[in-house]
Amino acid sequence: MKPIDVLIIGAGPAGLATAIRLKQKFNKAKSTASVVVIEKAAKPGYHNLSGAVIETACLDELLPGWRAADPAFAAELMPVKRDEMYFLTAKAAFQIPELLVPGGMHHKNDSLISVSRLVDWLAKAARKEGVEIQSGFSAASLIWDKDAVKGVRLVDCGLDARRQPKPNFLKGEDVLAKVTVLADGPRGVLSREYVARVKGNINPQVYSIGIKQVFKVPVGHDFGTNRVLHTLGFPNRPDVFGGSFFYSMGTEYIAAGLILGLDWKYTDLNPQQEFELLKTHPLIARFLKDAVPVAAGARTIPEGGFYSIPKLWTEGALLVGDAAGLVNMEKIKGIHYAIFSGMAAADAIVDGSISATALGAYKDNLEARGVLKDMRHARNFRQVFQWGVFMGAPLSQIQSLIPVRLGLHQDHSQTLKGAALKRDIKPAIDRATFAALSGTTHREDEPSHLIINDTSVCQRCRQELSSPCAVFCPTEVYRWKEDGVNISASNCVHCGTCAIKCPFQNITWTPPEGGQGPRYKNM
Ligand code: SF4
Ligand code: SF4
Repeated sequence: MKPIDVLIIGAGPAGLATAIRLKQKFNKAKSTASVVVIEKAAKPGYHNLSGAVIETACLDELLPGWRAADPAFAAELMPVKRDEMYFLTAKAAFQIPELLVPGGMHHKNDSLISVSRLVDWLAKAARKEGVEIQSGFSAASLIWDKDAVKGVRLVDCGLDARRQPKPNFLKGEDVLAKVTVLADGPRGVLSREYVARVKGNINPQVYSIGIKQVFKVPVGHDFGTNRVLHTLGFPNRPDVFGGSFFYSMGTEYIAAGLILGLDWKYTDLNPQQEFELLKTHPLIARFLKDAVPVAAGARTIPEGGFYSIPKLWTEGALLVGDAAGLVNMEKIKGIHYAIFSGMAAADAIVDGSISATALGAYKDNLEARGVLKDMRHARNFRQVFQWGVFMGAPLSQIQSLIPVRLGLHQDHSQTLKGAALKRDIKPAIDRATFAALSGTTHREDEPSHLIINDTSVCQRCRQELSSPCAVFCPTEVYRWKEDGVNISASNCVHCGTCAIKCPFQNITWTPPEGGQGPRYKNM
């Protein structure tokens, strides 16, 4: 079979921006070069979740005139007019004066958006340019020829729970491409394989989990519109990195979430229940009075920053967006970096020939667009919070002046310290309801996509650390039964937390058949 010219894995903001820019360039040059996007979700947007606040200059550059071309979509992006940050104690809220909020954390004039809606819209724009988007296909691994990437192998479909072929069995195809762009999100299966082989990052990548819910609120509710509110403090202990966000979505909805650095040491920390605890705070409870949760989900965020970025290209492959770790925690944003990185990658592919040296222009393009400059500025931001919020918050103001690189520990290593929070929470919604609100589905008789490598390690983990996976998974996929860990893979929302946080690195997250997992429509 003739190789595809450019194959993109993942139809998120980064992958679709790459595809759109490529096709625009090919169309202009009257080239019929093929651009194919493979997406594991049933529909573009279903696996995308973010706050989200976006700087729209990236859309202006990618699709000039987009506001006039689609006024209905443009109206969905609400400009931020109120931008506040609070420090919460258990009962009180203190607004942090604007002057003390780091420059990158100001959001006035940015826009509020649902990233799943944005992706749905970008996918339509990509198809209009002639991009082929194949949804519902999972990629299992990269195809290598020495150190060059030659394409991807798709997941086998139609296996039963014992991995035996059913009558509809379909062997995973090899899809060959001249260039493969990895846009498969934070710790995506293929980008993980790429990074393990190509390396190049100085610090390990670290992650947080973001738990998000969308609430329908009565018209004229207290929170108001065009508003962004962030909090630090409660319910997080001072040694747990993170904070919450509350964004208005039009007049009837609020997007709310809690972000927690996965380097917490507590074996009984349950992110979904921490979010429930946050909802009981007087300030938050007021905003969420009479609010009804209509959607829920979770995902991980790569937050290591500049020193955790791996080598961005190798022969035949490039990394873009979250897969490359292009998230700036100082700004609490990544979508515009994802889109800019897609454009930078497309420019490198079209303007160069397909070799490692030519794709190296990608890094220069990221520099030219200011992406790496911003990442470099925030280079020690996440690290200073390893010493707790009371040290981290003031140090974060001057982190760019620290003359040396600060290191990071892999998230799972901190769990081995084995402390306990001992919360007594009565959640308004439990983890099963949370999973239901994500719309996640998996075929019940397929093999589990979550694999425990060595069950004897779990016995030791149970004794020493009380099996943290039974607590930290936001949808209660793991439960301890008498003889070991029981897995309900059908509830998985593909957040990736378990493979990162298991203290003994005993979980392998493999891609299930395409078309499964969450179905986010307004996350
Ligand atoms: Fe512990 Fe990991 Fe086993 Fe869960 S899967 S019991 S966290 S070793
Ligand atoms: Fe997330 Fe793992 Fe739970 Fe799935 S099983 S929802 S990837 S923590």
